[in-house]
Amino acid sequence: MSVVFPQADASCSVCALHGDDAELAAHEVWRSDLWLLRHHPLPAPLLGWCLLDSRRHCAGPIDFGADEAREWGGVVQRASQLVRRVTGCDRVYAIAFGEGARHLHLHLIPRCEDDPRTAAWSVADLYRDVEAGKVCAAHADCVTDWLRRARALAPSLLD
Ligand SMILES: [Zn+2]
Repeated sequence: MSVVFPQADASCSVCALHGDDAELAAHEVWRSDLWLLRHHPLPAPLLGWCLLDSRRHCAGPIDFGADEAREWGGVVQRASQLVRRVTGCDRVYAIAFGEGARHLHLHLIPRCEDDPRTAAWSVADLYRDVEAGKVCAAHADCVTDWLRRARALAPSLLD
């Protein structure tokens, strides 16, 4: 039985995903009352590419309530640390456009110094190439293993 967050927007793909038990079972890393961290759905452009969503249907920081505004910095920091530790990348980009869905989903993108595909805007080219099938996505078995390790680490880092 799916439980949709009470203020879900019926036309929003992120709200729909938050009510999709199968998708969450496959890719969710961690959640709190306000936030949900998940691995990018398959095909994933990079191993460890995550999304940090607001649980509430909310376009972005400009629309935060007081509790969301208070927690945002800490949760972004700790989720980024989790991505770096589990992925073994050098840095983690944080990017949010909110165009595909007008519901905050912050992309946390592993940046590896020895992989030029992950440098700055090149990562957008990689994203489009994976989407178009021109470049191989992260291997599903690797994503499964990444999720196992991330879920084991998440309580100590994020709760
Ligand atoms: Zn939504």
